[in-house]
Amino acid sequence: MRIGVVGGGVVGLTCALRLAEAGHTVTVLSADRVGDTTSSVAGGLIYPPGTRPEDRCAGWTAAGVGEFTRLSEKDIGIRVLPGRLLHRAPAPWPYWAGAMPDLVREDDVPEPWTNAVRFSTPVVHLARYLDWLSGAVAEAGVAVEHRRLASLAEVAGADLVVNAAGLGGGALAGDSTVEPVGGQVVHLADPGLTEWVVDEDADVVTYVIPHGGHVVCGGTEERGRAGTEPDPEVAEDIVRRSRALVPELAGAEVLGTRVGLRPWRPEVRLDREGDVIHCYGHGGAGVTLSWGCADEVAALAG
Ligand SMILES: Cc1cc2nc3c(=O)[nH]c(=O)nc-3n(C[C@H](O)[C@H](O)[C@H](O)COP(=O)(O)OP(=O)(O)OC[C@H]3O[C@@H](n4cnc5c(N)ncnc54)[C@H](O)[C@@H]3O)c2cc1C
Repeated sequence: MRIGVVGGGVVGLTCALRLAEAGHTVTVLSADRVGDTTSSVAGGLIYPPGTRPEDRCAGWTAAGVGEFTRLSEKDIGIRVLPGRLLHRAPAPWPYWAGAMPDLVREDDVPEPWTNAVRFSTPVVHLARYLDWLSGAVAEAGVAVEHRRLASLAEVAGADLVVNAAGLGGGALAGDSTVEPVGGQVVHLADPGLTEWVVDEDADVVTYVIPHGGHVVCGGTEERGRAGTEPDPEVAEDIVRRSRALVPELAGAEVLGTRVGLRPWRPEVRLDREGDVIHCYGHGGAGVTLSWGCADEVAALAG
């Protein structure tokens, strides 16, 4: 089958790879270069904060943990590291706990926290990983065209279209439930951290995700944000919060700051409508869910 995949972020490229591996002739149509997508800004921690529907996201997360763990054997920027989600109040048992074989609850945590969940999971250095993924897609014979579509009908000569356009996916599907949730991160030089950490109950969720050369520190959740110009005051605040959470970052050099717009939707959309498969609205977990969703897209393509 000839398949046009609209979207060249982590979701579109992973779908394209799985579809090409299944024997289809695939073209990716993407308005942006991969280094300018939201995907390239992500912290790369594999777990699905707040995404729904829970049962499907649990399965997609398990698929992601499995595939990224396998890929961590290649030298493409993936490491499996332990870490903790810190809580200041009793937290429900994570619905995706089954995806993390070594997940345990910890009650012996310093103030102001009262409990944590600890587990090991892949952390993905997005610049390196997207570079590898783009190469894998090209090697599988997928063509990539850079243009912005006003409608899915503009995908010419395809038997099937996959709408994996992230934040743009809603407009292309006539779906008004997708909205941007901005996130700013700061990259600090990595002093050799061996664990990731997320303070889920801070006034603003704060996280530190080490990748060897740099640490991705965040974050912000700015509903309805339009632009991706970083705010220097927000960057300073992120550095302050990250150093308070991980004192080893005290002297770490600031390397840069970036903003991405998460494609938030009440639920991830993955379904088939005639000759269109929709796969968008992955919010703050598109990297995590990318392999599980791509497997399902390939199955729906038949
Ligand atoms: C600060 C921050 C931290 C994050 N951290 C994590 C994390 O630790 N773990 C995790 O799993 N996720 C994380 N995320 C979320 C993750 O980045 C997103 O869920 C993911 O990137 C969505 O991927 P996507 O391919 O759907 O969208 P995108 O990467 O936005 O790609 C969309 C693609 O569609 C194309 N497109 C859009 N509209 C059109 C159109 N009309 N015509 C043609 N092309 C179009 C774009 O050009 C682009 O190629 C984070 C996000 C942010 C902002």
